[in-house]
Amino acid sequence: MRISSLPCISQRTPGLKRVGGNSPQSIPGKPLALIQPEDRDFFERELASFLPDRVFDAHAHVWGHDNMHPGRRIASLPRDGDYQEFSRMLQALHPGRACAANIFHRICPPEHFEEANRWTSRQVACNPQYRGLFLTGPEADPEWLRQEVRRLGLAGLKCYHVYAGVKPTWEAQIPDFLPESHVRMAHQEGWAIMLHMVRSRACADPGNIRWIRHYCTTYPDMKLILAHSARGFQPAHNLEGLPHLKGLDNLWFDTSANCEAMAHQAIIRIIGHRRLMYGTDIPVSHLRGRSAAAADTFFWAYQESPVWGERHSEIKPVLIGLEHLRSLKWACWSERLSDTQVEDIFWNNAAQLFAVE
Ligand SMILES: [Zn+2]
Repeated sequence: MRISSLPCISQRTPGLKRVGGNSPQSIPGKPLALIQPEDRDFFERELASFLPDRVFDAHAHVWGHDNMHPGRRIASLPRDGDYQEFSRMLQALHPGRACAANIFHRICPPEHFEEANRWTSRQVACNPQYRGLFLTGPEADPEWLRQEVRRLGLAGLKCYHVYAGVKPTWEAQIPDFLPESHVRMAHQEGWAIMLHMVRSRACADPGNIRWIRHYCTTYPDMKLILAHSARGFQPAHNLEGLPHLKGLDNLWFDTSANCEAMAHQAIIRIIGHRRLMYGTDIPVSHLRGRSAAAADTFFWAYQESPVWGERHSEIKPVLIGLEHLRSLKWACWSERLSDTQVEDIFWNNAAQLFAVE
């Protein structure tokens, strides 16, 4: 499907000129070991004429091998996700585009937080258009956070449910892993907070709705980002919950890793496209497969999942990052966004939030 068959974004003439001129092979540097022929074909067929010239990745991870729990190391990925490797991966997914990112360290044991955040800070320092977030658990002293985030030149906090003190952590309420004292500090400092909410019904969960509204209305200078399109891997949760999150001026969403077009579409229609930012979730983007909604929940099909041997054909799964980009294209098409509005999602919204030129 070419862009010319997408009526709402058919004016993307720079994109049309680009077709065929920026295949992934044209990226300079190390060979793209993570990119296979099926990925290149997919990109040319589905994405080459859609993807804007500038891409700001609002949600992505860096990692230092020594900071990682051995069980979370992924053999197919570069050993260290430093600036060099990270930007190469970012470029591989967006060939020929000018790229920048908001980064934070992958999940690591709390005893490695210090080194992990120093790692993030060092990578951010490599590029004036990069921003970074400070990975923390709920027990951190807010004054200490203030000093550290300032010292490391970061733009806010990344919390995560795995650090909550409740079991199972995927049913944690937001304050279990993002305490109010951290949100108050973010308000005082004008920080962003990246929140991957949990609980089975995500943004349709009454507890999640209550805490998001409370934090956003009480702390207006804190900028809350709901990761993975409000973790709407089951878009029904977005359709049900998002109307309760309307009217919050300090609430944003990143699209990362979510392969369901309707999840993004619900945000665009119910909240507005200016609140939606593109994200890759590197390194998840460079694994193969996709997220898929089913029943009142969702599942992940990865390369090793036994689902690709269909009777009608052999399926070669492409990178999750490519499936994700196509789902976002479909959302933009369905909502009839203009080229300028698509560029807002891919650059302007995040550039404004993170004060990037
Ligand atoms: Zn992530």
